[in-house]
Amino acid sequence: MDRYDFVILGSGLGGLVCGAILSKEGYKVCILEKNRQIGGNLQTFVRDRVIFDSGVHYIGGLDKGQNLHQIFQYLGIMDQLKLQRMDLDAFDVVMFNGDEREFKMAQGYDHFIESLVRQFPDEREAIVRYCDAIKNVCQKFPLYNLRSGSYFEKMDTVETGARAFIDSLTTNETLRQVLAGSNMLYAGVSDKTPFYVHALVLNSYIESSWKCVDGGSQIARLLTKVIRSNGGIIRKHAKVTRIFEADNAVQYVELEDGERVYGERFISNIHPVKTLDLADSALIRPVYRNRLKSLENSISVFVLNIVLKKNSFPYINRNFYVYNNKDVWGCMEYDDESWPKNYALFFSASSKSGGFAEGATLMAYMKYEEVAQWADTFNTDSHENDRGESYRAFKKRKAEKLLGLLDVKFPGFREHIHAWYAATPLSFRDYIGTDDGSMYGIAKDYNEPWRTFLSPRTKISNLFFTGQNLNLHGILGVTFSALVTCAELLGWEAVVGKIKKG
Ligand SMILES: Cc1cc2nc3c(=O)[nH]c(=O)nc-3n(C[C@H](O)[C@H](O)[C@H](O)COP(=O)(O)OP(=O)(O)OC[C@H]3O[C@@H](n4cnc5c(N)ncnc54)[C@H](O)[C@@H]3O)c2cc1C
Repeated sequence: MDRYDFVILGSGLGGLVCGAILSKEGYKVCILEKNRQIGGNLQTFVRDRVIFDSGVHYIGGLDKGQNLHQIFQYLGIMDQLKLQRMDLDAFDVVMFNGDEREFKMAQGYDHFIESLVRQFPDEREAIVRYCDAIKNVCQKFPLYNLRSGSYFEKMDTVETGARAFIDSLTTNETLRQVLAGSNMLYAGVSDKTPFYVHALVLNSYIESSWKCVDGGSQIARLLTKVIRSNGGIIRKHAKVTRIFEADNAVQYVELEDGERVYGERFISNIHPVKTLDLADSALIRPVYRNRLKSLENSISVFVLNIVLKKNSFPYINRNFYVYNNKDVWGCMEYDDESWPKNYALFFSASSKSGGFAEGATLMAYMKYEEVAQWADTFNTDSHENDRGESYRAFKKRKAEKLLGLLDVKFPGFREHIHAWYAATPLSFRDYIGTDDGSMYGIAKDYNEPWRTFLSPRTKISNLFFTGQNLNLHGILGVTFSALVTCAELLGWEAVVGKIKKG
């Protein structure tokens, strides 16, 4: 019987980064993944020979010396990543129907400020204050800066709301909307999302923005190589169905076919609520279960992956966030008639497309309730199932509405479309294993900030959490969550100290 030092449940980025760090440290690691493909939201898929990402459209902080660059360097994957720097003058463009202007977000703080000041000549002071506030907040998160420090440093930042703070900077309504225009990056909620979430995410993209050429699954592939070269094991089609605890410790986890996998310590990259559902243990008191269950998840999303006709539409190295109205914070509140109120448009970077785009991804917020009537269906590439004609009709109707909104700012775009493929909250639910297809997991709340910070420790001594539900979502946020988990297990110096030493 094999017995591992660490058994990791789920091969999302959090599980893989933990696996890479722990295997580098000489531990015997086994990662169990339910899907055919590793990576969770890092998975890519191919339609009509075009590669699409499921959950990585761009990444920040990857320039030499920046935080994610240092970590990826330490993990041994940085030099092999195929990346493309996004447009320095505009990695993101924010637009509003009824307003002809294109508001550009440039890379590098000075450039960012000068570019926005050109667009809002009277607002230099507000724009500079906005940037200073972001940098100031980021300074207060020690791990984000790969330094040691106190948990309490961030105390005075966590109770500030993103919307309230941005609105306090200026009375210029358009500038307020523009500064919050990439809201989809963190699924920002008006009276809930903390400014620190906005700041940690935006800072990384302002510092530098990158696309993965031929998809983000390369990150998972490279981490897999690191883990395997250190003797680690990654098993696909290995769905964990039970976590068995006795004597205040997990003894083993059980897979769908009844096989047991034994280990000294266990790290779950699965949503914490789902993790506890798997653990039938008296140590996990109802009050703890209920506390986690009461935390709201961020909203889900409807995604159109568009295959473009060959050599038809130019590749644009920018992302677009487009709003029907100047109401960035109101887009999650919609009814059938008013949906979609906004969208994000990303072009896929490909190594073989020359100056033309091969594929584009269009995303709009969508509540799980919209697809709840098909909740009893389950469909992934390894468990193919037809959700039925009514579901196909739903997707078609939604796709048409979304393309209708796209037409306003990108007239004629439809003529370049060869085919589209839609994903709904059910797709994310089934591939990732959440209940509601939430984009970013547990939503942070500035009204009760400490409630929404989860510790990697659980009530079972050798069971730990990692992944986007802990600290922060996104490639950067989840990498930090994995560092938090590993630092809890190995100590700060063994993890962050080594990254700093390079
Ligand atoms: C539409 C969308 C767009 C995004 N765009 C970006 C972007 O442009 N930039 C960015 O930085 N971030 C982006 N993100 C966020 C980012 O992709 C995620 O925050 C991150 O990948 C989550 O990593 P994770 O470690 O929490 O694991 P997840 O990706 O949540 O993976 C969890 C893993 O656990 C596995 N699992 C679940 N249950 C079981 C079980 N019982 N047994 C075994 N395995 C199991 C799942 O199959 C999955 O592989 C996006 C997310 C979405 C949804």
